[in-house]
Amino acid sequence: MRLTVVGCSGSAPGPASPASCYLVQHGEFSLLLDLGNGAFGALQAVLDPVDVDAVYLSHLHADHCLDAAPFVVWHRYSGRSDGRAVPMYAPVGADRRLAAAYDSDGGPLDDVFDVTPIGPGSWTLGPFEVTTARTAHPIECYAVRLTAGGRSLVYTGDTGPSDAVVELARGADLLLAEAAHPDVPGLPEGLHLTGRQAGEHAAAAGVGRLLVTHVPSWVDAAAQLTAARAVFPAAELARPGGVYEL
Ligand SMILES: [Zn+2]
Ligand SMILES: [Zn+2]
Repeated sequence: MRLTVVGCSGSAPGPASPASCYLVQHGEFSLLLDLGNGAFGALQAVLDPVDVDAVYLSHLHADHCLDAAPFVVWHRYSGRSDGRAVPMYAPVGADRRLAAAYDSDGGPLDDVFDVTPIGPGSWTLGPFEVTTARTAHPIECYAVRLTAGGRSLVYTGDTGPSDAVVELARGADLLLAEAAHPDVPGLPEGLHLTGRQAGEHAAAAGVGRLLVTHVPSWVDAAAQLTAARAVFPAAELARPGGVYEL
């Protein structure tokens, strides 16, 4: 399994990275996890969009889904699409949310995306066994575990501290964990992890390695990594364009 970080800036695009988007490949199959603002541009540097086999949206906050809109433009007007609708797995309401983001008349996008609503559960997608768990976030959000070829990757999506995410990540080879909050007093509950909490989740789940991601441009990324490493030494910062073989 191969992970390529298309975008990893937390909560909004930053000067050096688009918002959340991760390409996960096994064999010939290419799956996108999230399509945050700016991601469609960077995606074209690593994969021809016609080779996207499926899209998984963890949730419908702007920084995880809004570049579905340029994907629609490309699909309809570039002349490079093969015309088939791309399977998309996303929380209930994604079809309405993305249609409204694309155009104020909210016309359907079902020529571009074949949307399957997700909840907590498991299914097979191409070569991947997919398992999801609801995270601690103000809107419906699902962390995802992908297993293929005996290797497994878990992506937290957005979450505050969550036992369900720890269970989902149990024994995974790689945990891609958000760490959007600096460790300061008075943080809202059920929203994001601190660097230290990302490390604690990795340690509690007994994962092989931790990639700290979703750090906003206004938060000190090095400090987030230092805090994670204090708890879980096998941690590094996700970097845009980074490729990780599992
Ligand atoms: Zn986010
Ligand atoms: Zn969010």
